[in-house]
Amino acid sequence: MTEVFKGSFTQQEPIPEEGIEAAVRVMRHGRLHRYNTAPGEIAETVLLEEEFAAMVGAKYCLAVASGGYAMATALRALGVTPGTPVLTNAFTLAPVPGAIAAVGGVPVFVGVTEDLTIDLKDLEAKAGRASVLLLSHMRGHLADIERLLSICDRAGITVVEDCAHTMGAAWKGVPSGRSGKVGCYSCQTYKHVNSGEGGFLITDDAEIAARAIMLSGSYMMYERHRAGPPKEVFDLIKYETPNISGRMDNLRAAILRPQLRALPQQRTRWNQRYFEIERGLRDTPGLTVIERPEEETFVGSSIQFLLKDWPGKAIEEVMARAALRGIELKWFGAAEPTGFTSRYDSWRYAPSEPMPSSDAILAGIVDMRVPLTFSLEDCALIARIIRAEVSAVHQAAA
Ligand SMILES: *Cc1c(COP(=O)(O)O)cnc(C)c1O
Repeated sequence: MTEVFKGSFTQQEPIPEEGIEAAVRVMRHGRLHRYNTAPGEIAETVLLEEEFAAMVGAKYCLAVASGGYAMATALRALGVTPGTPVLTNAFTLAPVPGAIAAVGGVPVFVGVTEDLTIDLKDLEAKAGRASVLLLSHMRGHLADIERLLSICDRAGITVVEDCAHTMGAAWKGVPSGRSGKVGCYSCQTYKHVNSGEGGFLITDDAEIAARAIMLSGSYMMYERHRAGPPKEVFDLIKYETPNISGRMDNLRAAILRPQLRALPQQRTRWNQRYFEIERGLRDTPGLTVIERPEEETFVGSSIQFLLKDWPGKAIEEVMARAALRGIELKWFGAAEPTGFTSRYDSWRYAPSEPMPSSDAILAGIVDMRVPLTFSLEDCALIARIIRAEVSAVHQAAA
């Protein structure tokens, strides 16, 4: 009997009861806007920012409407203006070049290695071409951040980290988002905490924090931020910083606070599922598992593997066969952007140069979501199905 998986790759867990209760409290009192507080009340959004700042050890934190908004705001706060080149990963998702486009910047794409991290040799070669790097920790794979920073420091490049897939992750114990000048996170449903939409921006730089708070739309109520810089810093920038609204509200913040507290346990649960799948895929002929460096603490909310040097037709066949058995795989080599997958050369508003070695890697990257609603038995079954279908197509080609 052929096994079929019946679960949903897009079904996340429910919001914890504590979050539901907190959300209902906010709806009952009606003060959803972050600056709408009763005397003596501290808004949920403000508390959330304090708690996230403490969790990652940042001086300042701003909660915003999305991860994409956090990145665009970081770039704007750093002075990226129309026409400014910004280095970024070729292997990432559309919100990343989109954040650069939002401020009129021009992406300069940097290649990807077989570890699925940014190609540091390519970064070194392109370092002279921009003074900002929007570094995407795509699918949670962390590059050697010390080497990366030494390249960037030498070239005078400021690093903004896209931590949409690395909230709760770390490199040698340093939380992801704490090595660059600014760290940006997403709280969108498919990330590590879920408020539907939402994001964070963190930094230790008082002026960037003040600019970001003003940009997000603080109506001169910045003194209510407890994870923001002192008033004097705002005095320096408040007349020259526009309001480009993108605040978070108290309802989302209420939902998120208990989820942040649960993140370490959730990481453990994600990684149990990740390793269950990885174990089942290891040593499948024709399939390359991505080895995780020991310096990296990651959150296994998705898994990737390589079908190196496989013809596109054969990869499509694996995907079709897996789909018949209930497994949703995504292929980053597809010519047409489908669902969330897309390739740097499909963002036609951004110029790109051919990158043959990266193209060869992208052409073999297969990706799969691992929601926490999967049991460990589900994960073992998923791995068996992928293994069987990859092996069948591989054998037929041999
Ligand atoms: C989801 C995501 C973001 C941020 O997305 P929003 O939907 O704007 O919160 C940023 N980078 C990557 C790689 C993502 O997948």
